[in-house]
Order: sequence, then structure tokens, then C-alpha cells
Amino acid sequence: MLAGLYEGFADSPDVLKGPQRALTVVPVLDMEIGGGNFATMAGPCSVETEFQLMAAASHLRRAGVRILRGGAFKPRSSPYAFQGHGLAGLKMLARARAEYGLAIITEVLCETDVQMVAEYADILQIGTRNMQNYALLEAAAHSGRPILLKRGMMATIADLLRSAQCILEFGNPHVMLCERGIRTFETAMRNTFDAGAIALLKLITHLPVIADPSHAAGHRELVPALARIAVAAGADGLLVEVHPYPKEAWSDGEQSLDFQGFDAMMKSLYPLLALREPAYAYPQPGKRREALR
Ligand code: PEP
Ligand code: MN
Repeated sequence: MLAGLYEGFADSPDVLKGPQRALTVVPVLDMEIGGGNFATMAGPCSVETEFQLMAAASHLRRAGVRILRGGAFKPRSSPYAFQGHGLAGLKMLARARAEYGLAIITEVLCETDVQMVAEYADILQIGTRNMQNYALLEAAAHSGRPILLKRGMMATIADLLRSAQCILEFGNPHVMLCERGIRTFETAMRNTFDAGAIALLKLITHLPVIADPSHAAGHRELVPALARIAVAAGADGLLVEVHPYPKEAWSDGEQSLDFQGFDAMMKSLYPLLALREPAYAYPQPGKRREALR
């Protein structure tokens, strides 16, 4: 049965599990992503202001989060939408990193920006619109930074694995796969969250699998349920949008959780995480368990 599951992926051999291949564990600061840990990456869609970013960083750090997300270069579908602060945004992320001891995940849009973004990012995010931008994949791979590779919104699982294979082939083993929802005939949600992809990727690949319930849902009310589904499907972590004042966000406010919403969502995940292997336990705020993140 399992052999059948592997059949469509023969052209991405190095991402697949194999007898000689250990689960990939991605080192980030003092943490390890994958291999039994659960990593929460949270923060605003876009870096907007110093106040916004610091408020988010401060709250999230106290809630036990160690990886801050925030876009400085934004791939906006409309040319009239906020495109991100660029280098100024990266510098704000650096201040949050230094102040709160957070690792930074941020998107890089093109290969000519890789060197600059990699100076500030602990993890390079390759967005859904760029999953098949092979020049970018190559430059990002060569930066040596861990890479979170988002599934293209119109990409199959095999397409995602081919792009991951490229990054491995370019010499960077630290790839994380991210399910963020795909386009289907269904329009009630922003995208269709493919929870089955998470389960399948966990079965067949050795790479950490991260779920982004925010871009899948498109509505904040749905985000916690999709996060719980992701945990139940075996995800190694979450990438989730959180904003101090979602209604005032410059991008993706409708799907951003406020602090209270984020805390409630995390609380709802603990019992599910506790059902997994003991190593998957997530430290609850106030309980210091350094080995587990
Ligand atoms: C984001 O994370 O804000 C983003 C633009 O994601 P995606 O590439 O999945 O749309
Ligand atoms: Mn966003």
C-alpha cells in the first residue's frame, strides 16, 4: 500500500523517506524544527510600524513563541496594495529579534534580494507565487539559510516536492514544506486547506511539514479550527498571522488573529499535541521546558 503512495514522486527521490535517511531536523537559533518538536511561527502579515511589530513580538514571546514572522517584501496581487517596507522592514525585524530573542522568518521575492534578506532572516520564506521560481530557489538554497517552501496555490504535491528536490540538489538540506491552501472550485474560504497533503507529506517525506491556516482560511474565525486539523494531521509546526489590531492591518487583516484569539487557539492545541508522541508536547506559557518548543 505504502509503495503505491510513493509512486508519483520518483523524480524527487531525495525528499522521500528511505531506510538510510533520518528525519530532517532544521536548526534555528537554539531550536530544532522537525524530528518531534512543534514550532510555532507567528506575527503580522506585513511589517508595518515599529510599534506594531514590537507589540506583536512582545506578546508572542511571552506566549512561548520563538519564531516571529513578518513580511518586508510583500508579493501583492494588486499593484496598488502596500508592497512592504523592504530594507527598512528588515531592520525593524532585526530590532525585534535582538530585543526578544526571536528567530525571524520573512519572505524573499527575487534572487537579487536573497543576500540582503538572508542577512536578517533566520528562515527564508518562499511564497506560494514563487514556488516554481527556480532562479530564486537556487539563490535561496545557496544562501545556506533554512527555507520554508510554500506550496504553490495551483501546485500539486508532486510539484511541491520537485521544488524541494531542487533546493536539496542546490546543496541546502534545510527545507521545510508548507501547506497554505490551494485553489479549487470552492470560494467560501480564501483557499482550500489540503489537510490530506499534510498527512501524506508526513508519511512520505523526511522534511518538516508546516501548516499555514491563515492564508488557507482567509477569515480569522476559521483559523483555530484549521490549526487543530493541522496538528491532528501531524504538522511539525504552524505559520500563523497575528496582529495587535487586525482591523487596522495593512494586509491580511481579515485572517489575522488578535492576541486573545492567538492565545485561545494555542490553548486549544495543547491537548491535541499531548496526544502525540511525548516529544511533541508544547510548552505552555509559564511552564519553562527548554527542551520543547
Ligand atoms: C504570507 O505569508 O504573508 C504570504 C504572502 O503567503 P503566501 O505566499 O502563502 O500567499
Ligand atoms: Mn499574509
